Amino acid sequence: RGTAFNKGVLLKHLLDDHQVDGIGDPTQAHMVAIDARAPLYDGGICTRIDCVSLGVVVNREAVRFYDEGEDFWPKRYAIWGRLVAQQPGQIAYSIIDSKAIGRFMPPVFPGVKADSLPELAQKLGLDVDTFMQTMTAYNSACKVGNFDHTALDDCHTEGVTPAKTHWARPIDTGPFYAYAVRPGVTFTYLGLKVDDTAAVRFADQPSRNLFVAGEMMAGNVLGKGYTAGVGMSIGTAFGRIAGRNAALAAAGKDAERGAVKDEV
Ligand SMILES: Cc1cc2nc3c(=O)[nH]c(=O)nc-3n(C[C@H](O)[C@H](O)[C@H](O)COP(=O)(O)OP(=O)(O)OC[C@H]3O[C@@H](n4cnc5c(N)ncnc54)[C@H](O)[C@@H]3O)c2cc1C
Repeated sequence: RGTAFNKGVLLKHLLDDHQVDGIGDPTQAHMVAIDARAPLYDGGICTRIDCVSLGVVVNREAVRFYDEGEDFWPKRYAIWGRLVAQQPGQIAYSIIDSKAIGRFMPPVFPGVKADSLPELAQKLGLDVDTFMQTMTAYNSACKVGNFDHTALDDCHTEGVTPAKTHWARPIDTGPFYAYAVRPGVTFTYLGLKVDDTAAVRFADQPSRNLFVAGEMMAGNVLGKGYTAGVGMSIGTAFGRIAGRNAALAAAGKDAERGAVKDEV
């Protein structure tokens, strides 16, 4: 999703060629479901498709595959890229009706629009019968209570798999909209192991003069999942510690090196 200069080259070099201690699951990542029309690099935040929790998401086979209402969107937006990556063809379609319009950050490019659900499926190139089965099963499973997108509300499904556990309302009010989404990797959770001075480690011993901050050490903080803001936070917090300790190491003042607790 970001710059073309962020492909893990330095990470791979340090892990493979210099045997720096690693940490984290390489299959876990900050991976967003982004507009399938986005450029490979530098599409920016406007390529995010943020209406998932307001509708349903189907894969290329026109079936749902995950609870779209599991939790608040800022806690879940960065898992949806991985979910889409696991689907056939690594593509999925976020489907909403006109009740969702105005309730999410609109993407730059308009979605595919149709006056009926079968027409929408046709425009997306999905099997119309399967799509309608999926939508009918979802719509009739919705138990609508008090819809509140700012709370974990009581609108949920019963008797459909996967369940939608919050914000479940029938998709029944045209016009209908769809956005094709693809996985957008921001950063993986494979990284360099650090101690509380942000020093990288070789065979479990802290380096005297090599420090790391930000995405390259995300795996120390993030196992799986994500909460909005962690990316910038680990860059800022560990960047400050790493920068100060690197400067002290360069000045030969190793004894003054600080740790996380000193910053707090
Ligand atoms: C579209 C988008 C939206 C985001 N939105 C948010 C948000 O709302 N909130 C949030 O907290 N986070 C957000 N993030 C994540 C956050 O921006 C990043 O995690 C953070 O900026 C990473 O900082 P960093 O210093 O670890 O890495 P980077 O900013 O990637 O810095 C690494 C630097 O190293 C340079 N480099 C690479 N290889 C070499 C080399 N061999 N030699 C020398 N230099 C090299 C690169 O050019 C780059 O300047 C977003 C990311 C993207 C892409």
